[in-house]
Amino acid sequence: MSYLIVQVVFDTPLDFYFDYRYPPALADERKPHVGQLIVVPFGRREETGLIVGIKDHSDVDESKLKDVISLCQEVPPLPKDWIDLCRFAARYYQRSLGEVALPAVPKKIRQHKKLAIKRALKALEKKDGEIPGAKVDKPELHQAQQKAVSAIMNSGGFAPFVLYGVTGSGKTEIYLQATEQTLEKTPDVQVLIMVPEINLTPQLEKSVRDRFPQASIATLHSRLTESDRLKNWLGILTGNARIILGTRLAILAPAPKLGLIIVDEEHDPSYKQQEGLRYSARDLAVWRASQLKIPVVLGSATPSLESWQRVLTGHYTKLELPERAVKDALLPSISLIDTTRQAMNNGLSPELVAAIRRRLEKGEQSLLFLNRRGYAPVMTCEACGWVSACTRCSAYMVYHKAHRLLRCHHCGLERPIPRVCPDCGNADLQMLGRGTQRIEEGLKICFPEAGVLRIDADSTSKKGSLLAALQSVHRGEIDIVVGTQMIAKGHDFRNLTLVGVLNPDTALFSHDYRAGERLFAQLMQVAGRAGRSSQKTGANASEVLIQTRYPAHPLYQAALSHNYEKYVNVLLAERKSARLPPFGYQALLSAEARKIETALAFLQEASALVPYRDGIVINEAVPMAMMRIANMERAQLLIESASRPDLQHMLREWVPQLRNKRTNVRWHIEVDPIAI
Ligand code: ADP
Ligand code: ZN
Ligand code: ZN
Repeated sequence: MSYLIVQVVFDTPLDFYFDYRYPPALADERKPHVGQLIVVPFGRREETGLIVGIKDHSDVDESKLKDVISLCQEVPPLPKDWIDLCRFAARYYQRSLGEVALPAVPKKIRQHKKLAIKRALKALEKKDGEIPGAKVDKPELHQAQQKAVSAIMNSGGFAPFVLYGVTGSGKTEIYLQATEQTLEKTPDVQVLIMVPEINLTPQLEKSVRDRFPQASIATLHSRLTESDRLKNWLGILTGNARIILGTRLAILAPAPKLGLIIVDEEHDPSYKQQEGLRYSARDLAVWRASQLKIPVVLGSATPSLESWQRVLTGHYTKLELPERAVKDALLPSISLIDTTRQAMNNGLSPELVAAIRRRLEKGEQSLLFLNRRGYAPVMTCEACGWVSACTRCSAYMVYHKAHRLLRCHHCGLERPIPRVCPDCGNADLQMLGRGTQRIEEGLKICFPEAGVLRIDADSTSKKGSLLAALQSVHRGEIDIVVGTQMIAKGHDFRNLTLVGVLNPDTALFSHDYRAGERLFAQLMQVAGRAGRSSQKTGANASEVLIQTRYPAHPLYQAALSHNYEKYVNVLLAERKSARLPPFGYQALLSAEARKIETALAFLQEASALVPYRDGIVINEAVPMAMMRIANMERAQLLIESASRPDLQHMLREWVPQLRNKRTNVRWHIEVDPIAI
């Protein structure tokens, strides 16, 4: 009796195809197809796998093969080019195909919940036949926007674009109109639009729904309920959803007919997945576009050095929007306040206080940006030198006044606030530094009549509370907002005309070579919150004040003139001389164990296993800068190469050897790490 043999992959690190027999009885009813999900015996369990190949006979003794249990036939086969995308990601990021493909499939499908699947599919049927036509009332594009849209539409194949324009220059409008034209041009085509953060999806979703009231739009992000994920994912797979909106994981959406990919705020570190499959959604977006021979638009006011360098070398095309789209909504003026020469009041310089007061008098809003939550970052005893160190991490515990406790922001450990120094009994404990809570308190003292609101991870931990907070800002109930990076991105506050940046200097001295690039992007982004609309008080009324101890630093000097290009050239020259990305390629092997010696020893053994060193630089294994988190000690081994293919080639030989190594050290490999 002859069987069909199906080749199946599972969500396991075992990087090969498993052969199963497809019983003739089953084949009479329905033939299997590549891309279908299938339930088979796997070890002692039943497991869902993905069919990646079908053949007449196996190289394994067929009598030893097990039979397929059932075929998940409700779900249409996943597209071949989607499997190729997963295969590429798996190879590039050193995982198995199954580890990439299966987790991208909704749980309810992997668990083969037939009923739920049939329900979800039925709901999609009804929507058939809708036309994704756009609303007619939309702004007429400015010349630079028009040029950008034409370039995207006339690319005729794979074409990576860097859409470079300050906040408010009309990038979103380009996304919308390019989407519209793409949908009009080709029947059934789909457009994928990605944003870096979940918090930004509702806003974009609203713009897209307003513009395309008829089109079926599917969102994909990590906070969807399982039934919504199932419904949206099936909508994408069946081609029903014409516009796909999502965070980084949306790059693995199984869209059968993509015609355009847009990556908004392409420089944002959130596009890098930092656990499990550590991929860059932006990089995969470019790969996917080249695979499908379609345009990809990378939008940013501060493009990543990687993308900018590719513009310089002519691999990507720059589309530039030189000014803000709304007439008179000029960029805010930026000034630096040298805090070394000022008597500070609750962390605020006299100039900043005066500027806030002027805004209050005019009924306009101010935003204070500070990347540090809690009340004070550290408590200390001046008598004996005790500091509030976390017992489980190499970090300080942060003083949280409202909850009356010390909290570690790395491992979550909490302790009551000591009344006296735990070491020497001194009752006069000091608080060092200022977090958002302390700034909020200071603002309430300085401006008792003003509405002050704090927005950070602590104040918005309840579901819906961030949205409520943002709405109260929009409604004008709030005069002064103080918050972390959470409020730096995207939000369009029309009445906001002053942005104060408090204590951004730590990034200047970070061990992380990307800290400067990030701070600059953050400053431009938070500055972009001011002056979004033309103000009655005069075109140039909005301002950004940066409090710093190092006003002469080139980063701030470039920020003064909103001059990304000036700063990016400085950074690129530095990177080039240090052979850092984008002039070199990296892979990072990280290990953690109870004792740092164990982690280091593992890395040293791993280092010795590197098969060859031609064109490869292997650095010494070192403890991480944040060495200990939650009682685990962490070390890393950085591998570099001037050539991406050389590095990939070596990893492909080396990583399987690591997987075969017996160890109880937890380790992972990351290709193109963004934090080292
Ligand atoms: P970005 O995405 O670059 O921050 P947006 O596309 O959101 O910029 O545009 C900023 C503002 O300018 C929005 O209110 C938008 O409606 C408006 N806008 C964009 N393009 C035009 C245009 N061509 N004419 C008039 N207003 C425009
Ligand atoms: Zn003490
Ligand atoms: Zn801790």
